[in-house]
Amino acid sequence: MRITRAVTHIRLSDTNVGKLVQLDVLAETYMRLCQQYVTAFCTQMAPDKYATAWLESPLSARWQRVIIQHAAGIAQSWRTNRDRAYTAYMDDLAAYQERSRAVMRDPSEQAPSWKEWNTPHLKQIILQANANVVALEPSTDSTFDYWLRISTLTKGQPICIPVSLAAYHRTALAGKRLNASVTLTRKPGGWWLTVSYDATVAPTTTDESPIVGVDVGIASFLTTSTGKRYGAFQGQLAHRHQRDREKRRRKAKLRACLKQKGVTKLPSPTNHRLARHVRQEINRAINEFYTDHVSYQVAYEDLSVRTMRFKAKRMNAYLRAAHLGHLPRQLAWGARKRGQRARASQAAYSSQECARCHYVSRANRPDQRTFRCQACGFTINADENAALNHQARFDDRKMRACTTKDEVRTLLHARHVGYLEQTGGRSLPARREPAFGRESLMGQSGVGHHSRRNGRKHQRPAS
Ligand SMILES: [Zn+2]
Repeated sequence: MRITRAVTHIRLSDTNVGKLVQLDVLAETYMRLCQQYVTAFCTQMAPDKYATAWLESPLSARWQRVIIQHAAGIAQSWRTNRDRAYTAYMDDLAAYQERSRAVMRDPSEQAPSWKEWNTPHLKQIILQANANVVALEPSTDSTFDYWLRISTLTKGQPICIPVSLAAYHRTALAGKRLNASVTLTRKPGGWWLTVSYDATVAPTTTDESPIVGVDVGIASFLTTSTGKRYGAFQGQLAHRHQRDREKRRRKAKLRACLKQKGVTKLPSPTNHRLARHVRQEINRAINEFYTDHVSYQVAYEDLSVRTMRFKAKRMNAYLRAAHLGHLPRQLAWGARKRGQRARASQAAYSSQECARCHYVSRANRPDQRTFRCQACGFTINADENAALNHQARFDDRKMRACTTKDEVRTLLHARHVGYLEQTGGRSLPARREPAFGRESLMGQSGVGHHSRRNGRKHQRPAS
C-alpha cells in the first residue's frame, strides 16, 4: 500500500521581511482568484481541475493553473456534501409524507425543510503549489536546510526564503524523497510550510483477518462491535462544553450589539481552544482503538451530514468546529498507515436495523441510547447494535450493491422474512445483552455475530 505522509509545521524564516511582504501580496492575489473560481465551480459549471483559465489575473499562467486545481478541489467537496445533504433531506421528506399518508405521524412533527447552502467563503490563506511555481531546494549553506524558491507576480524575479527544520522534522524526513507539491499556510504569527513524501506500508491484514465494526457518535466517539468504547463527550469535556455554550450566548449578544453600532470586526463565535481540545480527544480515541485492534479489518460508518444531524442536534455548529465529521476519514487514515484494511460500509438503516433479525423500524430506538427490536426483542446499546451492523456489512456484497435507501430496505425486509422462516417466526430471548467489557477482544465478537453470518449464508445459496 502506498500512502502519502505529510510533515507539517515547518516555519518559514522571517529574517527577510521584504520577501515575506511579497509573499503576502502574492497570497492575496492568489486567494482572490481562487475564491472567484470556487464560486464559479459551485454555481456556474462543474469543477474541472484542467479548465482553461478564463478570469483576468496578474498572476502567471502557471500560478493560475495551480489555483484552478485548488479551487476545483474545494468546489467538488462542497458539491458532494451539499448533494448528500439534499438527498438526505429528500429521504426525510419522503418518509415524512409516507407517515402522513399512513396517519402514523405525530401531529406535532414538522415537515423537514431545506435551506439552500451558501457557497464556500475562503477564510484561511492557503497556497497549494506544485514544482512549476514553488521549488524546495536543499541548501548548500550550512545555516539553513532548504531554500524555498517562489515565483512572484514579477516575472523572472522569484523570491528565495530560507527554511530551517526542527530536529524532529529532520528525523522525519531523513532519507525521504520529497514530493514536488507543497502547501503554504499564513497564520497570524507567520508563514508555515507543509511538505510530503510517499511511503510504502506492508499490509498487516488479509481477507481472513477478523473484522471490527465501528460506530461514530457523541456519547462515545467510537463504539465497536467488540464491545468497547473510546472517547466520550462526558465529564470534563461536557462541562467545558456547557460553560462554552453560556459564553457563546454572551458573545452572541455582544456581537449583535457591536453590529448595531456598526463595528465590522466582530469577536469570533467559535471557541477554538475547546475545538482543539475535542480534536485531541478524538485523536486519542482513535489511537487507543487501533492499539486494541491490531490486525483487524475495520468496517466504519461513513458518517453523513444526516447522521450527524441526528447524533449531534444541539451541538451541531460546535461539533463542526471540532471536526467530528472528519472522524471517519481519520479512522480510514489510521488503518492505512498501519497497513490494515478499512472500508466504509453502507450506512442506510444501520442504526435502525436489528443486528439479529434484520427488522428495521424507527420504533427499535425507544431512546438515543437503547436499541430494542420490536420484532424479536433483541436489546442492546444502540451504538453497539450499529457497530455490529457495520461489521456484518463489511463483506456483504448484496448490501454493497444497493445504491438507494429503498433497495437497502427491501433487502433487509427479505432478510427479516428469511430469519422468521428459519426460526419458525418465534421470538427468541435476547442472545446478546449489552455486555460492555465482558467479551474478550480475541473472541471475534462471540456467538451473536458468527452464528448470524453463517445463518445468513444458508439463506443465500446463490452467492
Ligand atoms: Zn430483531
